[in-house]
Amino acid sequence: MAKRLDADVCSLYTCGSDLNRLRLSATVGLNKDAVGRVILRKDEGLIGLAAEGKAPVVLDHAQQHPRYKYFPETGEERFESLMAVPLMFRGMATGVLAVQTVVARHFDQGDVDTLLTCAQLIAPVVVNAQLLSAAGQTDEERARDDASLARSGVPIASVPTDSETRKLRCKGIATARGVAIGPIHLLSGPVDLDKLSYTPNADAEQEEADLFKALHDARRELDDTRGDMEEQFGPDFASVYQTHVQILEDKGFVSKLQTTVRETGNALEALRSVLAVYRATFERISDPYFRERVWDIEDVGRRVVEKLLGIRHETAQVAPGSIVVVDTILPGYFARLELDKVGAIVSEHGGATSHGAIFARALEIPAVTGVVGIREAARQGEMAIVDGSEGSVFLSPDEHLVAEYERAQMRYAVAIQHLDAMRDRPAETRDGRRIRLTANVGLPSELRLVEQHGAEGIGLFRTELLAFAHRGFPEENEQEQLYERVVRSMAPRTVTIRTLDIGGDKDVADMGVGHEENPQLGCRSIRLSLEREGSFRAQLRAILRASVHGSVRILLPMVSCLDELRRARELVEDAKREIRATGGSFDPDVPVGLMIEVPSAALIADVLARECDFFSIGTNDLTQYTLAVDRTNEHVAHLYEPLHPAVLALIDRSVRAGLRAQIPVSLCGEMASNPLAVPILVGLGIEELSATPSAVPVIKEIIHGLYASDAAADAREVRTAGTAREVQRIGARRLRKAGLLEHVDLGAWLTPIVEEAEKG
Ligand code: PEP
Ligand code: MG
Repeated sequence: MAKRLDADVCSLYTCGSDLNRLRLSATVGLNKDAVGRVILRKDEGLIGLAAEGKAPVVLDHAQQHPRYKYFPETGEERFESLMAVPLMFRGMATGVLAVQTVVARHFDQGDVDTLLTCAQLIAPVVVNAQLLSAAGQTDEERARDDASLARSGVPIASVPTDSETRKLRCKGIATARGVAIGPIHLLSGPVDLDKLSYTPNADAEQEEADLFKALHDARRELDDTRGDMEEQFGPDFASVYQTHVQILEDKGFVSKLQTTVRETGNALEALRSVLAVYRATFERISDPYFRERVWDIEDVGRRVVEKLLGIRHETAQVAPGSIVVVDTILPGYFARLELDKVGAIVSEHGGATSHGAIFARALEIPAVTGVVGIREAARQGEMAIVDGSEGSVFLSPDEHLVAEYERAQMRYAVAIQHLDAMRDRPAETRDGRRIRLTANVGLPSELRLVEQHGAEGIGLFRTELLAFAHRGFPEENEQEQLYERVVRSMAPRTVTIRTLDIGGDKDVADMGVGHEENPQLGCRSIRLSLEREGSFRAQLRAILRASVHGSVRILLPMVSCLDELRRARELVEDAKREIRATGGSFDPDVPVGLMIEVPSAALIADVLARECDFFSIGTNDLTQYTLAVDRTNEHVAHLYEPLHPAVLALIDRSVRAGLRAQIPVSLCGEMASNPLAVPILVGLGIEELSATPSAVPVIKEIIHGLYASDAAADAREVRTAGTAREVQRIGARRLRKAGLLEHVDLGAWLTPIVEEAEKG
């Protein structure tokens, strides 16, 4: 790089295991003895600035900059100009690449791009090397490092005092998995219509014309955004903008605006009052899904007001890795934000089923929703950690917590990257037992993740997500197209399509049953489908028609008795007859299976197995119903134990029933991606695990480390266990004995999980 950029120095600084410090690791041009001895914190010097700001630092006269720091070991005073760029890996700055010159010069954008490209290429290599060397470092070497750090005058770990840090932990709803660490970016909410000052035209006709021009401009902008979103993320995303266009074109909306602007002579007033009417109407709706659609109206209204007032709708400038805090995750934000700079999204309001929440999941952006008070508590620019799997947000965490999360995040990211490279290798235990690993998805846009992480098909396609992403559930022919797309792209791999599973915590407006005292025990899922035979048959026809394009299985959710299975199968046969009658085609042998997620189904599994083609065990609901613990209720979350021996006994019973009837048995609850559960599930005889796509490579690697015979012994022990804790210990012991804690990719990530389980 020094040669290429005509510079006198090129140096590489790396972070090692502590992401807060940078060490000079290699140099051409600086004093070679300084290598390994120059160590600085990220908040020190210009090199630190590049890492801290996660952005290039380009200076013609470096010494004039207030952050310039002199390191005598390097002989640095001879150098005048500097260009430093961070080595970015999965949103983290893991080092800095810098060039310097003796004679002052200007580095132009082309130079910056060249250095950035190089940094981008070497970042993963450096990270891997760091992890490997940290894993192989002896205690003595670590002590030597700390001593040299102490010599350099940098505190080894400066723990902030309580006055420096607020260390605030906020809880919300876990909406999209993943961890992010970065500065808070408070995104202003929709413009507050009540606070805007506005002077209308004296001429009423002109005022009306201005309002209609604003509507027209908003419409044009929406069209552009829709096109961009479709190009970037696919049609699922674009459909929301179609909804917004529909609102703008809605005759009722437009004529109400026209009447009001004529009455008041004030366009802003007209918008305010019409939006207020809509808002009030939506707020009265008891169904949460429909109620949440008020945000679509707000989004559209804000856009029109911005056009009316000439407020430019600019892309929000956020620092790389930002934790964006919003009032509600509106779909519009996904167009306004530079998504590659968004580390996570946190919202004050809104639940896990809003459009925005679904976008976040599909884009793999960690998200926590419903964090009450976050907009008040968080300060612009303050550091925060978001754990989207836990639903936690830490404001101003101390350095220890940041370092802990950073290390975990980096190890996990590196592990997944390595393991993805072996995506085509099947999952097999050391003694040759083959386990199928498939993925849980719900939107066509997630298909790329199935490929990326090497799943062998789709073990659970949750069709209700289509209803959340679209406005209501798609019509039969639209469903057919969607299923066909999924089936074709997976062929010849199997796609298990689950019929609509709504109700309970998954409410879909126009399809729900209205208010129920106890919706988790109410008319949900298959019960609802059997009550609405017309729509159920339409869905079955759509799935059946798609089956000619590949390998499809139909999965019935929440079956609790034999009658439900029998009635559903009759309707499948009806659907086939209807297709035949119209000359359509389908795969006549499409297997029909059911989910074991209600204890009654597990208890009569032998009977059910005789009349269905496969079982898929849904441990999320099975845990909820076995332990009488609402899976969405924070107050009883500590009692929600998928590894409870009672849940395992029901899984065991179902697997054995499946074996006796010679039908395949898979498991698709979150439990499939719990490392402590994997040996036990293998031991119980599960043949297929279906999980979030990114968990697939990790499960695969754990399976590679196990002997099926050992796992079977563990499963026998589990049958006599009394508590979830005991079961976790059995799982932990197996992972340790299998040597997985020394695994080059997974070891560092698994160790704390195993140690925690062993403690109990
Ligand atoms: C389950 O209950 O385990 C399951 C996979 O279904 P869902 O999480 O969609 O209810
Ligand atoms: Mg379920």
